[in-house]
Amino acid sequence: MQELTPAHIERDPTGTPYAPAFADCYCSQQDALAETRHVFLQGNQLPQRWQGWHQFTIAETGFGTGLNFLATWQAWQADSLRCERLHFISIEKHPIRLDTLRELLANQPELQPFSTELLANYPPLLAGFHRLNLANGRVTLTLCFMDVQAALAELVARVDAWYLDGFAPARNPAMWSLPVMQGIAQLSHVNTTLATFSAASEVRRTLQVAGFHVAKCKGFGKKREMLTATLPESCVCQRVEPWFALPAPAQPQPAHATVIGGGIAGCQMAYALAQRGWQVTLWERHARLATEASGNRAGVLTPKMTAEASWGETFYRQAFLSAIRQIRQLEAMGQYIDWAQCGALQLAHEPREAARQQALLARELPVDFIQILNQAAASAVAGIALPTGASYFPQAGWLNPASLCAALVAHERIEVRTLSAMQALPANGVTIIAGGREVDQFAASAGLPFMPVMGQTSVAAATPDSSRLKTTLGHEGYLTPALMGKHIFGATFVRNVREPVLTVAANAVNTQQLADYLPDFAASLGTVTASHAAIRMTTPDRYPVVGALPDREFFQRAYADLRHGRVNQAFPPARYQPGVWVLAGFGSRGLTTSGLGAELLAALLMGEPLPLQATLYGNLHPARFLIRQLKRG
Ligand code: SAM
Repeated sequence: MQELTPAHIERDPTGTPYAPAFADCYCSQQDALAETRHVFLQGNQLPQRWQGWHQFTIAETGFGTGLNFLATWQAWQADSLRCERLHFISIEKHPIRLDTLRELLANQPELQPFSTELLANYPPLLAGFHRLNLANGRVTLTLCFMDVQAALAELVARVDAWYLDGFAPARNPAMWSLPVMQGIAQLSHVNTTLATFSAASEVRRTLQVAGFHVAKCKGFGKKREMLTATLPESCVCQRVEPWFALPAPAQPQPAHATVIGGGIAGCQMAYALAQRGWQVTLWERHARLATEASGNRAGVLTPKMTAEASWGETFYRQAFLSAIRQIRQLEAMGQYIDWAQCGALQLAHEPREAARQQALLARELPVDFIQILNQAAASAVAGIALPTGASYFPQAGWLNPASLCAALVAHERIEVRTLSAMQALPANGVTIIAGGREVDQFAASAGLPFMPVMGQTSVAAATPDSSRLKTTLGHEGYLTPALMGKHIFGATFVRNVREPVLTVAANAVNTQQLADYLPDFAASLGTVTASHAAIRMTTPDRYPVVGALPDREFFQRAYADLRHGRVNQAFPPARYQPGVWVLAGFGSRGLTTSGLGAELLAALLMGEPLPLQATLYGNLHPARFLIRQLKRG
């Protein structure tokens, strides 16, 4: 994935924001808000068309200043007959920097309550998808910071209304090309509408070639005409390979769900569904939530970066940013979460890590997300002398998983049943297996290649010297600053163990690791006073497992030819086991990734636009191992 070039904005003589790179303005020089309402809202017969629906999806090419989005949100908020949930997807290749956006939106006082919330959640300018849950989850904005054609190829959504708002076609033909219009048609259905300010004959012709019926109507202000369009038939094409075909949504309307497992993944799942109006029963076999892999006093919330941009990195950084937004929102709603956004440093503790950090430096990623610091600068940020330079994530920190679990389940639609071990899956309804080490104990999930790994963390008393550490520190393991007089550090990594066992030897391994990478700090630390051991379930490719469980027999039969390399023949769409879904395999990174995983699963369950790219949907798909096996024969 390409890195982003942020927008460069000037003002034209009327004060309207202007993009020199495209020699065009972002909006009408007369009355931008009135233009938005005329062209995009009325052009798509909104608000009327979202009335009476549970959810409605709008997609836009060109997020720009967010004016169209904010005006739409305002109209939705003002409409007493509005749909329950509004999804707005917007594609933007050159996003505007936060400070500039704040300045520009200050000129729209009418939109202030909406722009304040948008600005508080606006992501760093990193390529990829950013899912923002706004209006307490009733309005979701999926910002796709990518080129339009690449973004359309990665979007999985059924769009009800399109806003085409690239710069003027003559100045920005890439936004109006035939592949773009075909991508738009592929995401549309028979009732989809489309509107654009442009009346260019080239745009009309391209839309027609892509299959749209196009009409001219009165343009805004001095503009004589604009275009609207509809699609005469729904597109039947799939965004994803047949073996990853989207499961039929379990329920277009909220219903009841059973979630198995009261760790971070289960609590995230319960919350994602409760926020969508579902009643959830959460089963936990222990007396309390967050006891096993989520039972650490504190874990580290950080992204995981690769030297070059990769899908793995994209997943982690999107998940990380989404986790931070969620915690802040929970806090804004009055929930207490025991965490600190103290920043995280990853030491360049070995040559490969040092080389990775140099490669990251060359990528010029946004400094509000990552900074590559030399030894002196890293030491200043850490508050203690460090042996090497480090990568620094200013938004990262530590988090007490149990406190997040408690905040997530403090929801009127979630019933928590502790001391309740589920022996067999319910015969009916929707069940989500979100257990940790018992995830594969059910027949439905037994075929998944989870790998148990035991990890032990240690707790040691802080001293005045060790208490000077301000951030979390990563090397081979991790270390927190002093939390109520204690540092948490570790963890060990022991494969193929199913039952956690606390050992003195594991504490010695953790202490030795600290001594190896941070000798001065290790010498300043007090004695080990406690430890925690747990089994983390990981997978062979290190991605978690999120989605509907495949019907294994059907897969074996329907995709048997994959082993002959016949990937191009027509295969039937995947079939899944009815009513059973999985959210598991987060390894030691569930704090960072399970929230986005739960969002994805909830979106699949309800037929919503997916919060992440089609490629990542496939990378997390529960059938991926089976398909790889079939391909290998
Ligand atoms: N809808 C916006 C609003 O409400 O403020 C105004 C959009 S402005 C007219 C056009 C936007 O398209 C710009 O923000 C520009 O960066 C974006 N853009 C231009 N070329 C693009 C491309 N190839 N892919 C994605 N976005 C692009």
